[in-house]
Amino acid sequence: MYDINPIRADFPILGRTVYGKPLVYLDNGATTQKPRCVVEAITNEYYNTNANVHRGVHFLSQQATELHEASRETVRRFINARSTTEIVFTRGTTESINLLAATFCPSQMQAGDEVIVSTMEHHSNIVPWQLQAMQRGIVLRVIPMDDQGNLLQDEYERLFSPKTKLVSIAHVSNVLGTVNPVREMIRTAHAHGIPVLVDGAQSIPHMPVDVQALDADFYVFSGHKVYGPTGVGVLYGKEDWLDKLPPYQGGGEMIQHVSFERTTFNELPFKFEAGTPDYIGTTGLARALDYVSALGMDNIAAYEHELTQYALQRLGEIPGMRIFGRAKERGGVISFLVGNIHHFDLGTLLDRLGIAVRTGHHCAQPLMTRLGIEGTVRASFGLYNTREEVDALVAGIERVRKMF
Ligand code: PLP
Repeated sequence: MYDINPIRADFPILGRTVYGKPLVYLDNGATTQKPRCVVEAITNEYYNTNANVHRGVHFLSQQATELHEASRETVRRFINARSTTEIVFTRGTTESINLLAATFCPSQMQAGDEVIVSTMEHHSNIVPWQLQAMQRGIVLRVIPMDDQGNLLQDEYERLFSPKTKLVSIAHVSNVLGTVNPVREMIRTAHAHGIPVLVDGAQSIPHMPVDVQALDADFYVFSGHKVYGPTGVGVLYGKEDWLDKLPPYQGGGEMIQHVSFERTTFNELPFKFEAGTPDYIGTTGLARALDYVSALGMDNIAAYEHELTQYALQRLGEIPGMRIFGRAKERGGVISFLVGNIHHFDLGTLLDRLGIAVRTGHHCAQPLMTRLGIEGTVRASFGLYNTREEVDALVAGIERVRKMF
């Protein structure tokens, strides 16, 4: 049962107006709104349980630590990791990928070794590898795609060489909505003995994810895109891999013993968590994961699929509409251009009608180059969006189109 009205009522911000118009929030790919229970969990911890974690003998510190570690268990359960030792808390997807690039490349790669990424990656899955390329001479190889937005699997297979050391790919494209066949792509990489990092920023909020079923070596995501707070995210890594990697940052928490002669490091996952963690953020994230779990990730996926199909059909009726991303397996991210209207103008005028969409290159400039465009308008759905909001978007676009 998916009852949209009580669900919407859980998100107070959806009831507000902008420019005197009801808010139609279609920028969920950038960040999602927060249900009341998440905000309350955060407030409650600040009011009642705030103390630094892992270091105090006192009551509050122990309670805060229990909450923080219970949140780690919630994340473990949500993605079906084997153990909480495999759940590293970070600031988000970007930091998770940077952590991996900064530890994997120096310890597992030499100059000339290769990382395979794809044409449709977000900058956060390109630039961290480029920084390593500048420092250590590692090389990026790029999986091409067809005009519908499918990665070319034959070309992918051909990219493997004795120099390949890692594959790093998005589960779902934040521009095209393509759901990449990551399970098969992981199988291919493993047949070559190569580990795979999956960027789950755009998949975690929209579908059930089981890291063991995928057999992903690393899986990363951001809390704020899955109805949790900003500033907290996750790096999942298989224990064998995390054990092999050196620490990321140095500081408190990540050590076992420090002396000026020799320092030893803490066990997993704390080896990668220097400094005071965002323990309030992890509480909010856990509450968000509980919230979507209670709705059911399968139910959310089915609801959003139906809404996306409706939106694709309605948008497709608009004269001059060009939708980018026609993969068979696609999520609720729809990028488009209409006639000669500049994406920025369309987005700005929609905003005046209360409709929040994203415009620009969506942090995927190489993909824009591949598509031969500078940017798009992007509508991206969340679990609370409705057909009426899709209708409002279509009516808004029609209105702008007539102005031009
Ligand atoms: N990867 C993808 C596919 C994304 O869509 C995003 C954000 O839009 C990111 C990575 C970066 O996420 P964050 O800014 O939360 O670190």
